[in-house]
Amino acid sequence: MQSISPSNSANLRLLSQQAVDDTITDVDSILSSLAMLLQSTLDTRQLLQLFHQQLYKLIGNDGIRLQNPDRQLDIRIGNQARHSCHYQLEIDAQSLGKLSIVRSQRLSETDILLIEEALCKVVYPLRNCLQYQDALASAMTDKLTGMPNRQAFDQHLDREIDLARRLQLPLTLVVIDVDHFKSINDAYGHNSGDRALTLIGQTLASCLRRSDIAFRYGGEEFAVILSHSDAEKSIAVADRLRQNISELTCHDGLRSFSMTISIGLAQMTSEENTFQLFDRADRALYHAKAQGRNQVVNAADIAGF
Ligand code: GH3
Ligand code: MG
Ligand code: MG
Repeated sequence: MQSISPSNSANLRLLSQQAVDDTITDVDSILSSLAMLLQSTLDTRQLLQLFHQQLYKLIGNDGIRLQNPDRQLDIRIGNQARHSCHYQLEIDAQSLGKLSIVRSQRLSETDILLIEEALCKVVYPLRNCLQYQDALASAMTDKLTGMPNRQAFDQHLDREIDLARRLQLPLTLVVIDVDHFKSINDAYGHNSGDRALTLIGQTLASCLRRSDIAFRYGGEEFAVILSHSDAEKSIAVADRLRQNISELTCHDGLRSFSMTISIGLAQMTSEENTFQLFDRADRALYHAKAQGRNQVVNAADIAGF
């Protein structure tokens, strides 16, 4: 497998121009429109799609594939085929991933030169796409706990509600607030409070199915979207979360302390919107606090609701 970085470009140009002398104008115009097209998107899949389409005009490849295990990326465009060549793409020793080009016919030396010429055009745009994805992910992640944040929650909840409605599946929203957290900060200091919040986040995430996501909604408040789960099932899940948090022990030098959480939940009804669903779950949380904390309340059990 070869390594491609932008500095390969000058040498490759000389070689490839020699090899495809007859069609030089075509090749040049395809390569320059490739360079322009690749500036038009910051979406990695779309970028690879454009790259595949333009490369096809040069060598008639059947498909391409980008693999980057560090980013859990594995994108295939087009079809699988028997013959392939592989390149490790990098800029300043930063790996962008392994790009494979596949074709049913054997790849000739000229094909390889054209591929490498085209690859030199994709390296920077691909880096831009990956950096953009990083920026998006960072904007959706809470810095302290590493959990998805409020912005991610808003997006997910809208999407999950749409999906649940379309597929006529139950969905329950769970909102969580740490009990008397201010006294924990007061007694053990803000750093211990921070560590306690991180531990709570990790514990919530570890108690859930992969499809159910826990968010840090803000401060000492968390939210969990239980898709495909009605209120009855969700009460059991929420109570398990409550139990597991109450069994945690946080350490602050020589001292240790434990915490409890209060939980409100609401199963989505057929006519309510995101705001109304959140409001019902939040009111159930308020009841859990008012009734003594360290408990789960289902919005449907609140009188007059
Ligand atoms: P309640 O049981 O009624 O929820 O009481 P509480 O003390 O948890 O509620 P209150 O709203 O009075 O206090 C919340 C506290 O959470 C106050 C705030 O300083 C603390 N807090 C919010 N975000 C963070 C954070 O990121 N780190 C730390 N250490 N504390 C935080
Ligand atoms: Mg609070
Ligand atoms: Mg609280």
